[in-house]
Amino acid sequence: MEIDNQSFINIKNSSSKTFLVAGPCSVESEKQIMSIALNLASNIHLLRGGIWKPRTRPGTFEGIGAEGLKWIKNAGRAANMPVAVEVATPQHVEECLKIQIDVLWIGARTTVSPFSVQAIADALRGEDILVMVKNPISPDLALWMGALERLNLAGITKLVGIHRGFSSAQKGVLRNIPCWRIPLELKRLIPKIPIICDPSHICGNREKLSLIAQEAMDLLFDGLMIEVHEDPDNALSDVQQQITSDEFVQLVDK
Ligand code: PEP
Ligand code: MN
Repeated sequence: MEIDNQSFINIKNSSSKTFLVAGPCSVESEKQIMSIALNLASNIHLLRGGIWKPRTRPGTFEGIGAEGLKWIKNAGRAANMPVAVEVATPQHVEECLKIQIDVLWIGARTTVSPFSVQAIADALRGEDILVMVKNPISPDLALWMGALERLNLAGITKLVGIHRGFSSAQKGVLRNIPCWRIPLELKRLIPKIPIICDPSHICGNREKLSLIAQEAMDLLFDGLMIEVHEDPDNALSDVQQQITSDEFVQLVDK
């Protein structure tokens, strides 16, 4: 697989060891994303924000929709950093490209579906954009590899893997169980691919975040993606796991 990791290195900037992505689970309002962006500005490399949310059950907040794209793009401009949005359909891709969202990511519930990934890859054919691919919800390396290969075959060479843990029937302290062997094996098979860890979706709570982030760093992951919200208890999604920008700065300073 041909991987071009130069733009990852450029966004990360060569002097920093760890690539840091942070931002809210969901973009909720223009004001919300702007204040998070400005508060995080000097501490991260890439601002994340969910616009269309793949909620497990209906009847919960499913994202602000396309209107939020310009909010996150403006927030990124104000804070002088690139922005990343999750895409799950060709329509999402089209809306993001129209407004020049800098980085796209594919969520765990989408990586499981070869049809969905192929449709996204087809929509991206000929584009020069960084795409981050979360592991599928099941501990299936081939499915994760397959998603990366589909994008690669469509001409996308700027790829990053994200380990966000795997679903389990056993409910314990973690929401999604990490299986470090799988991302490490991905790295062995595709040595040039940067792999980052998403402790927020692994933990599902705030308490274990720093422990999981530290574990990823000890295993030489290339970076972290962490959910940040200035009023986590009143967030419209993933209430239990989001932390404030101050808590984020403390966590990554450690
Ligand atoms: C998210 O990043 O907000 C998200 C929905 O994550 P995942 O696809 O890992 O569940
Ligand atoms: Mn989330």
